[in-house]
Amino acid sequence: MEEQLREAVRSLCRGYPESYWGALDRERAYPEAFVRELSEAGYLSCLIPEAFGGGGLGIREAGIVLEEINRSGGNAAACHAQMYTMGTLLRHGSEEQKKRYLPEIADGRLRLQAFAVTEPDAGSDTTSISTFAAREGDRYVVRGKKIFISRVQHSDLMILLARTTRRADVDRKTDGMSVFLVDLRNVGDRLRVQPVDTMINHETNELFFDDVEIPSDALIGEEGKGFAYILSGMNAERILLASESIGDALYFTDRATRYAGERTVFGRPIGQNQGVQFPVAGAYIRSRAAAALRDQAADLYDRAEPCGAEANMCKLVASEAAWEAANAAMDVFGGYGLAEEYGIERKFREARLYLVAPVSNNLVLSYVGQHVLGMPRSF
Ligand SMILES: Cc1cc2nc3c(=O)[nH]c(=O)nc-3n(C[C@H](O)[C@H](O)[C@H](O)COP(=O)(O)OP(=O)(O)OC[C@H]3O[C@@H](n4cnc5c(N)ncnc54)[C@H](O)[C@@H]3O)c2cc1C
Repeated sequence: MEEQLREAVRSLCRGYPESYWGALDRERAYPEAFVRELSEAGYLSCLIPEAFGGGGLGIREAGIVLEEINRSGGNAAACHAQMYTMGTLLRHGSEEQKKRYLPEIADGRLRLQAFAVTEPDAGSDTTSISTFAAREGDRYVVRGKKIFISRVQHSDLMILLARTTRRADVDRKTDGMSVFLVDLRNVGDRLRVQPVDTMINHETNELFFDDVEIPSDALIGEEGKGFAYILSGMNAERILLASESIGDALYFTDRATRYAGERTVFGRPIGQNQGVQFPVAGAYIRSRAAAALRDQAADLYDRAEPCGAEANMCKLVASEAAWEAANAAMDVFGGYGLAEEYGIERKFREARLYLVAPVSNNLVLSYVGQHVLGMPRSF
């Protein structure tokens, strides 16, 4: 079953070669055709239960889809949010919300591709967010700012984390935050979207909420309990993005291995030199270790068991393996690694993101130091 799924995704990806992704990268354009085909083939809705028209698969299979996209040379970041937001919606959304949105998301008519948490003044300290949703009768009025909110222009729906009680007024800093499923088609011009140019083709944005009105039935679960809902969604996000990093690592080791066998210098293939061979082999080993951790995290997640430690750890190991493989491939390709035509430099830039996002690796280390090993809290 797993191998069949991998081969089916590889087959779809063969229609979108590296030249496709390279051209989009130069134009900073969205992979519309790829995302449409992926939706129509049902891969983007694989986590949605069959009763709502989805594939009814687990996070493990979803991770395999993303891994194969990145291993093929593609960039699953264009559409991964539809998978990682499912944790929040499926586990904490009401039946009414699921009935209203899931069937249309499953058949590709609606896109849920935006996830709005990060704020300029809070950064990694999510409990310091200040975007505020004030209840007024049958609606909430939202005011505040978000940064690095990706794919908003290619999304109909957005998961939003906002405070509904100010941090100063709660006993525990994790209380008083709420999650909303915002229908971006109805928010009007009180939500201003300002693109942020980055070194990758990621279409990310700064958002300004200037008293944006959203209906009260956009609230997911209970008011004030949003942080816990977002955390379970974040575990899904870490497992899925770790899968992309594993795909990246394997893309680099595949390409580097092939090139090291083909490129002849000093009368022999460069891969015959252990100085060339060992860094690629080391990165490959690390990517396998990351995959084992990812599988462990995914199995726990799919059984709805606590998986915070495993989700965080696999995200760190996978992002480091991808970055190690990226650098090894850069070395193997010599000057050609920097030439756009070879694709390595684009993937190199893309792989770098995951050391920082969706959570920076320092924060993963502090999670493990404090919550797994029981060392003193630093914040
Ligand atoms: C291309 C891109 C797309 C993104 N997409 C989204 C999105 O769709 N939705 C969303 O909500 N967010 C998104 N993000 C935001 C991303 O999740 C954050 O950038 C990330 O969580 C880090 O936050 P920050 O940039 O504010 O860094 P900061 O929190 O300012 O941290 C800066 C540095 O300081 C370190 N640091 C901070 N505090 C500590 C500490 N106590 N101990 C040790 N080190 C520390 C960090 O590790 C980091 O290296 C995206 C970011 C990028 C770049």
